[in-house]
Amino acid sequence: MTKIHELTEVLADQIAAGEVIERPASIVKELVENSIDANSHQIDIIVENSGLDSIRIIDDGDGIEPDDVLTAFKRHATSKISSRQDLFKVASLGFRGEALPSIASVSDVEMITSTGEDQGTEINIRGGAVIKHTVAAARQGTDILMKDLFFNTPARLKYLKSPQTELSQITDIIDRLALGNPAIAITFMHNGHEILRTAGNGNLQQVIAAIYGISNARQMVSFENEDADFKVNGYTALPAVTRASRQYITILINHRYIRNFQLTRSIVQGYGSKLMVGRYPISVINIELDPILVDVNVHPTKREVRISKEDQLGQLIASALQAAIKQENLIPDALGDL
Ligand code: ADP
Ligand code: MG
Repeated sequence: MTKIHELTEVLADQIAAGEVIERPASIVKELVENSIDANSHQIDIIVENSGLDSIRIIDDGDGIEPDDVLTAFKRHATSKISSRQDLFKVASLGFRGEALPSIASVSDVEMITSTGEDQGTEINIRGGAVIKHTVAAARQGTDILMKDLFFNTPARLKYLKSPQTELSQITDIIDRLALGNPAIAITFMHNGHEILRTAGNGNLQQVIAAIYGISNARQMVSFENEDADFKVNGYTALPAVTRASRQYITILINHRYIRNFQLTRSIVQGYGSKLMVGRYPISVINIELDPILVDVNVHPTKREVRISKEDQLGQLIASALQAAIKQENLIPDALGDL
């Protein structure tokens, strides 16, 4: 008698979900990233009870073709890469084809999507089982509603923290996505209250003001620097405005928010003795590089990435910040119309 058998698709998806979908904030991240990858100009995020009741994301992006909708919910199904070469130059936020099947395996997902043709598609998947799949009238874009998170994985449900903690994780993710995409108009509503609204006009300083407040934003200076491999730009706080946590530093590589100890240290180094030990600035730093120089396929959530020539990049950042703080009286005021 044989003992080894392949896991069912749903079970395999639930196992994958364990890595990608840790909590409501992970769902928000994955879904908003999909909307960004779909070239959306407007993304509305509507969350009830810290995502424990529901998460809804409405975008005006490319939508999904009727014949692709079921496939989109299959594991390792993606429109974003197709060859081994593509993996070395990933330009999109997603590429693993894991988010939709993972989310649909541990919750109840309803999606209405349209590519702008007459017909859209409506699909409902619960715990990996397709409940409904029909033609629907729809405007271009995708409207996805997630309910009953972890209804079939009770251990996961128990592991969730307090609604306040889950909400602050969601807010944090949305803030970083908004900072990385000032050209997309993003709104975030929680229990009927507006938490964030960005104009989508490409003005990063205005997004910073929406998140950290106008007075903090006014005390930040812009910086820019480049060499043969990297371009960096962004805003960083004057040394007088510091925080006791690294949390207020947002590092974006080609619009992807990442965590990186060494680059954080380079930011601090740029301040030299102007920053006391244990204090950190508010900073938003965009790094543009050829995707070949970064490996994003290190961790399922892609938070940690591997960068070639990291030391060189660190020096570029440190010197950009150093120069910016020196000429701190040259604050370009892009906030005038706020
Ligand atoms: P990945 O983002 O890694 O490709 P996902 O499971 O997140 O995998 O999504 C699967 C596919 O479904 C995507 O490659 C994309 O083609 C499509 N898709 C998902 N969300 C959207 C959306 N909001 N708008 C348009 N297409 C989408
Ligand atoms: Mg995705």
